[in-house]
Amino acid sequence: MTVQDFERFQFQPFILEALKELKFTKPTEIQERLIPSIQRGESAIGQSQTGTGKTHAYLLPIINKIDPERQEVQAVITAPTRELATQIYHEIGKVIKWNEENPITAKLFVGGTDKARAIEKLKTQPQIVVGTPGRIHDLVKEQALQVYTANQIVVDEADLVLDMGFIEDVDQIAARMQEDLQILVFSATIPEKLKPFLKKYLENPRYTHVAPEQATATKVEHILVPLRHRNKKSLLKSMLEAYNPYLAIIFTNTKKMADEVADGLIEKGMKVGRIHGDLPPRERKKVMKQINSLEFQYVVATDLAARGIDIEGVSHVINYELPSDLDFYIHRVGRTARAGYSGIAATIYDPSDEDAIVRLEKMGITFKNMDLEQDEWINIGERNKRKARKKQVDEIDNLAKSKVKKPKKVKPGYKKKMNKEMEDFKKRQKRLKRK
Ligand code: ADP
Ligand code: MG
Repeated sequence: MTVQDFERFQFQPFILEALKELKFTKPTEIQERLIPSIQRGESAIGQSQTGTGKTHAYLLPIINKIDPERQEVQAVITAPTRELATQIYHEIGKVIKWNEENPITAKLFVGGTDKARAIEKLKTQPQIVVGTPGRIHDLVKEQALQVYTANQIVVDEADLVLDMGFIEDVDQIAARMQEDLQILVFSATIPEKLKPFLKKYLENPRYTHVAPEQATATKVEHILVPLRHRNKKSLLKSMLEAYNPYLAIIFTNTKKMADEVADGLIEKGMKVGRIHGDLPPRERKKVMKQINSLEFQYVVATDLAARGIDIEGVSHVINYELPSDLDFYIHRVGRTARAGYSGIAATIYDPSDEDAIVRLEKMGITFKNMDLEQDEWINIGERNKRKARKKQVDEIDNLAKSKVKKPKKVKPGYKKKMNKEMEDFKKRQKRLKRK
């Protein structure tokens, strides 16, 4: 195997060794386009769909540039959730371990862990700092962590950083860093509300948008499953059994619903993992480990907890409910079909989701309509069939009305009589139709 396509970046040999082990043979598009400008020291905004390799687009040039002789902070990498920060930290480990001669140091700082121990860890400053903005800012304020020596900062999953109210912390960290600061912002979507932040922090950033050909990875099959007055948890259970997935993530909009769904499935005898923000850090860590060692076939998750985490081998994403912010649909579905594999994204919907579905279709998503029949998947027609059927009923209704003459003089009880006549007429019509 060769990593020849990475050679033009002139990375140090140990990085090429790491890439070999990672089995990355050629850079992804966002890596291809951003690595050279990051190497030139330019600030950048990298926008591309989930699963396109944004992490290594910044990790590789940052690690490559670290001066092992300088035992001080040289780069700060922030991520909005503990899991994501932890994952980035592990990715760094997989690369820097190859530089045995001049060891590079990286340290992880996330909330929900013992602060005194974090301060203890900082007796020697690491060269790369990874963590959540809140905890990093905290340690900077405590003067345990010295970031003034660093001139590179990464804001990964920037839209979520904003949503979670971490922008202020990022601001405070950045304010204490070198003046010629290189800011690298990554996100799958750049919502309007992020723009003031970008303007404030980035003067002339290189903006790289790798436009997806479709709104999500092409190998995802998007499936709509109508709820149709069925019990939603039973439907979910049947869907999971019919898919028999390698690994499915079931998304809910709230922690409460995540618990409800997970408990419901457990009650039905299924082995289910769950990740959401209310789990104590130790528990979350344990679940992540279990997920990655494939102890679960099903994982129930909320958007925030699952964002940006690279769980390998997610074959199915199930939307137990559609997110109100449709960008999250893209993020959720981005969990499957990563790095070229194919995947299925199935959404349980009811008629109140119609508007959201139309908007998703406008975003370029093509849905297949499917349902379970005796535990087998079958293709069903367009979801607008429902409307068509309703129209047919209305027509029969009108016809019935026109057939039933309204008496000129209104007698008591006429309404009842008329309704009965109409019902009889409708029944006859339906019987005729069936024949
Ligand atoms: P993003 O941050 O854009 O959502 P990630 O950085 O998490 O995506 O990468 C998604 C997956 O693709 C990861 O499993 C990662 O190891 C893999 N990957 C990244 N770059 C490459 C590459 N050049 N070749 C093959 N796989 C890659
Ligand atoms: Mg990412």
